[in-house]
Amino acid sequence: MSAIMPTYGSPSLAFERGHGVYLYDTDGKQYLDFCTGIAVTALGHNHPHLVHAIQDQAGKLLHYSNLYQIPGQERMAQRLVDNTFASSVFFCNSGTESVECGIKIARRYHSDAGSPERNRIITTTGSFHGRTLATLSAAKQEKHMTGFLPMLDGFDQVPFGNLNEVRAAITDETAAILVEPVQGEGGINYASEDYLNRLRETADEYGLLLFLDEVQTGMGRTGKLFAYQWSEIEPDILSSAKGLGGGFPVGACLANDKCSAAMVAGTHGSTFGGNPMAMAAANAVLDVILQEGFLGHVIDMGAVLRKGLEIAAAKHSEKIIEVRGLGLLMGIELSEDILNGSVVKELEAQGLLTVGAGNNVIRFIPPLIVEESHITDALATLDDVLTGINV
Ligand SMILES: *Cc1c(COP(=O)(O)O)cnc(C)c1O
Repeated sequence: MSAIMPTYGSPSLAFERGHGVYLYDTDGKQYLDFCTGIAVTALGHNHPHLVHAIQDQAGKLLHYSNLYQIPGQERMAQRLVDNTFASSVFFCNSGTESVECGIKIARRYHSDAGSPERNRIITTTGSFHGRTLATLSAAKQEKHMTGFLPMLDGFDQVPFGNLNEVRAAITDETAAILVEPVQGEGGINYASEDYLNRLRETADEYGLLLFLDEVQTGMGRTGKLFAYQWSEIEPDILSSAKGLGGGFPVGACLANDKCSAAMVAGTHGSTFGGNPMAMAAANAVLDVILQEGFLGHVIDMGAVLRKGLEIAAAKHSEKIIEVRGLGLLMGIELSEDILNGSVVKELEAQGLLTVGAGNNVIRFIPPLIVEESHITDALATLDDVLTGINV
């Protein structure tokens, strides 16, 4: 038996190296990576600018502490502020911690404003916010909670996409509304622009905070730096991670003026959060994402991928129920009689890495540097595999 705690099952495939959109296993076999470590390796593998930044920083300093000034952190925070709604940023090491930070900010904001009873957060069905107790309590996914009760109090869940249910769930104790602009793990469920607009209006009407979990949708994944930027609205709090460090573990919680003001010295902290190595990686990733034309490329490639998936769905209409997503966060929902997990395995055997999601969905989340020829290859593999499945 493996010495690794068996939380991940027992995967058989291991990779030795990567280059661009490709990964190579220990036998040298090449795989097209449309999984990207689950929306993490935004620049693909071995991106020279990112590698150089990390190597350069490693030769100087890995870590000291937030007891001291960290110039790379100052720079990264300022650049996120300059390019978003936010006025300050807290750095951590993962998605779940970035959500956890946002939950604390929401509570602290109302407490600071003289309403400590306003500590409950409205969340939605099908959401995923990470694996700490607070974020499990927020998402309320049965399969993740089993055996870990009691959950934390303070979260009220409503059906995703239904504004009336959100309004009905608001009480004098509500502090915030927490949603993913596109639910990733839940099955690429897309919140309409109208839903986001109405959530913002509702939050304003009741003095609630709007908290967007952009751990998966952020850092260019949908063709904007953050997905909310497709809409007219701005959140009060936003969590980010996954693509942020391009493969180096980095998380961030962004907050607007009024929320930032509540987080005075001593209210939150992290030993590793925002250390020099993490910030070298994050700044390097942002250098590339902010380059002229980069997000346009994501939008273009997203359109190519969507069109190809739609063609596949038309051809295999008895097997693909729906194509949905935004930018390079795309998914296909399979018909009931086909298991997404077995198709993911079959694609993997044919050299294409993808990842499943809720609602029997297969996610196609290539690196943002993907080119049309890679998408064409991926679609050909999908076509082969679907053609070979008898239902
Ligand atoms: C992946 C994910 C998380 C959790 O991130 P970890 O780094 O695994 O803690 C939280 N929220 C969303 C929307 C995610 O996709």
